[in-house]
Amino acid sequence: MKHLSTAEIVVATGNPHKVEEIRQILAELGVRVLSLADLKSNDLPEPEEDGSTFEENARIKATQYARAVHRMVIADDSGLSVDALGGAPGVFSARWSGLGVTRQERDHANNAKLLAELDGIPTVSRTARFVCAMCLAAEDGAILAQTRGEFLGSIGTSARGRNGFGYDPLFIVDASGRTSAELSSEQKNRRSHRGMATREMARLLPSILGQRPSLS
Ligand code: IMP
Repeated sequence: MKHLSTAEIVVATGNPHKVEEIRQILAELGVRVLSLADLKSNDLPEPEEDGSTFEENARIKATQYARAVHRMVIADDSGLSVDALGGAPGVFSARWSGLGVTRQERDHANNAKLLAELDGIPTVSRTARFVCAMCLAAEDGAILAQTRGEFLGSIGTSARGRNGFGYDPLFIVDASGRTSAELSSEQKNRRSHRGMATREMARLLPSILGQRPSLS
């Protein structure tokens, strides 16, 4: 039996914010969370995320990265779904505006586009959710588990806060108008889509790992 404290799982994403958010939760189980950078594998070819759902894309990423690094891999696919935009940007969240080279430039351009698309839409109709689909794959790419989390909020009219990434500065999370970029990472983890999907994964992990033969 593989003991939780000897388990190593690679979080396959180039986004250091996501690695930290997932690491904080799985570390409580004693599982060692590695990033692609820890494996010196951050130059692997990125899988083509051509699925039409978050779940499909999470499976594509987990399977392909697990086969490439021959380790257990967790991958997530996440994004913002805005009700007034029929669920957009959805699976296209990361590169929605088509502008920007660095992650920061892309985030900035995406946020500008979101404000423009919602221009004139009243507060009550600006409801949105972040969605996260998470997938755990075995070393050979077999899918071991899939989880999902949602974080409900609404879209503000100007950016606020310096924490987090992506659409966080526009995503209002409570009645006082605070955005998720104004939450600490612990506060965000407690309520976020990724926190929810990761906690569900953490709940499933002991039995999944317990059924696997020890590698040592
Ligand atoms: P992914 O890396 O393909 O999953 O793309 C996710 C994209 O959705 C990010 O680039 C952000 O634009 C957006 N997104 C996902 N999760 C969050 C979050 O927690 N805060 C802000 N934006 C997020």
